[in-house]
Amino acid sequence: MVAPDGENGPRSWLRCYRCWSQNLEIQVHYEGIHRVDPDTGERGEVVDELQEAVVQCLDCMHDQPHLGFSDGRILPIEDRWERMVTGTPWVASCTVTVDADEVDTCSGPDAGDALSYAAFGDHGTREFFTHVRFHKHAEDEITVHLLVELYARSAEEASVVLQDASRGVLAITSLAEESRPPAAVDDPHA
Ligand SMILES: [Zn+2]
Repeated sequence: MVAPDGENGPRSWLRCYRCWSQNLEIQVHYEGIHRVDPDTGERGEVVDELQEAVVQCLDCMHDQPHLGFSDGRILPIEDRWERMVTGTPWVASCTVTVDADEVDTCSGPDAGDALSYAAFGDHGTREFFTHVRFHKHAEDEITVHLLVELYARSAEEASVVLQDASRGVLAITSLAEESRPPAAVDDPHA
């Protein structure tokens, strides 16, 4: 758990990881199946439910994959928020080689997402900015050539994050630090 105050409190993580704006919005999609109370007609006991939430910054319009939603409030995602909020963007040119079976589709409009997911799982589609440059087939394997932008506090951390997220054999050909996007104008932390 995160303490309500202090340096791990909401003021440190409840903001956009790119521009530090606190002008956030949440989109919640809820699907639920409930019992119906036969006397009152009220919605009752939950049979099944599915909730998806995406937090977005209203200043730079980016999704906030370091923030989750649970029990009516936004919470930081451990192991991710500190790196993303206090880190800087790193751009890696890399390849990931996976079994061809891991790739749902490698042509058509969904190919980019499918190849990004095969290479880096949810990190590839939700956290990193992933651009698939091209891919090559070799026997039963596919090598995906990508440009990836991710947030980290050092080159070492960026490499470790890429390594941990990789679902195949990762080779990093270059890794360079970019400058952070400008902070939001009304940011009280600037
Ligand atoms: Zn922002």
